[in-house]
Amino acid sequence: MSRIYNFSAGPAALPLEVLEQAQAEMLDWHGSGMSVMEMSHRGKDYMSIAAKSEADLRQLMNIPDNYKVLFLQGGASSQFAMVPINLFNGKKSADYLLTGQWSKKAVAEAKRYGNVNLVADTTDSKFTTVPDEASLKFDPEAAYVHYTPNETIVGVEFDYIPDTGDVPLVADMSSTILSREIDVSKFDVIYAGAQKNIGPAGLTIVIIREDLIGHANPAMPVMLDYKTHADNDSMYNTPPTYSWYLAGLVFARLVKLGGLSAVEKINQRKAEKLYKAIDDSPFYSNPVDVHCRSWMNVPFILANADLDAAFLEQAAANGLTSLKGHRSVGGMRASIYNAMPEEGVDTLIAFMKEFENTQA
Ligand SMILES: *Cc1c(COP(=O)(O)O)cnc(C)c1O
Repeated sequence: MSRIYNFSAGPAALPLEVLEQAQAEMLDWHGSGMSVMEMSHRGKDYMSIAAKSEADLRQLMNIPDNYKVLFLQGGASSQFAMVPINLFNGKKSADYLLTGQWSKKAVAEAKRYGNVNLVADTTDSKFTTVPDEASLKFDPEAAYVHYTPNETIVGVEFDYIPDTGDVPLVADMSSTILSREIDVSKFDVIYAGAQKNIGPAGLTIVIIREDLIGHANPAMPVMLDYKTHADNDSMYNTPPTYSWYLAGLVFARLVKLGGLSAVEKINQRKAEKLYKAIDDSPFYSNPVDVHCRSWMNVPFILANADLDAAFLEQAAANGLTSLKGHRSVGGMRASIYNAMPEEGVDTLIAFMKEFENTQA
């Protein structure tokens, strides 16, 4: 068996120990005589898997008791709709921060349900920065404020949490959840597709303050009402059982590693050394303002784009894959989520130096 270092933005690498545990439990989970995939979601065994998974996530993120954790499907993209459907609640408009391709999609979807007020728009910078905190003028009458703490495509990450006063703050944390400690009580809704930093695709996690549940637009499908899922412990219909189980294995591993404070230190170190390698070299560059560079998604451009194909080919030959940048940005992007070991980043940096030297 040979495993490569997979820098994919998502679906992304999973921790080897988690895959090994899933493999060991594949045919017979804890003496049940069946795979988790084959279990009824209403049976005692699966209920225990679901409960442990939620308990570990609550412990990891220190989620207050007045927040529900929902295990849903439909990806973060469905949350672009569920947020306005559930939170507009008779208000005239919602505030959005447009800071990249994902928040742009969230804005477009919200406009189908109500007025969107753009409190910030960094399009002119080609999304290489975040708005100055002092420049943000929120509408105190807004239904909610939505933003994307980490924009996965350009690799720009807020270095502050917007202070919205009494207006609910909604965050699309798809590519930054679990990468560092956060104070959940500063947010009102957090959502994330699982396939970046949690587990396999197919699972979407929503963490929501309880009193925001129960105000959905009644014309919308019950499946899009947070209350449907909250009232049924995310089992109104069949949940994505296997993805939820694997996410639970990831949570348990992070708890064992020492929680998010330990994970944060590793992630900071990984990101800092990769950015340093980029900044120290005249051959590589990253366009994002230094104070808001993402810890999880690190785009970089080669001085000569004609060498992109050779870079990718030789990287793959060295066991470093999925480094091609998003088509809208070009160049390279290394996604270094929790499951990317530090040795993977070290190997990438060594390869980058070697490649640069052979071009000189
Ligand atoms: C990947 C991503 C999405 C889209 O997620 P899906 O689960 O594919 O719908 C949305 N927002 C951010 C920040 C992402 O990184």
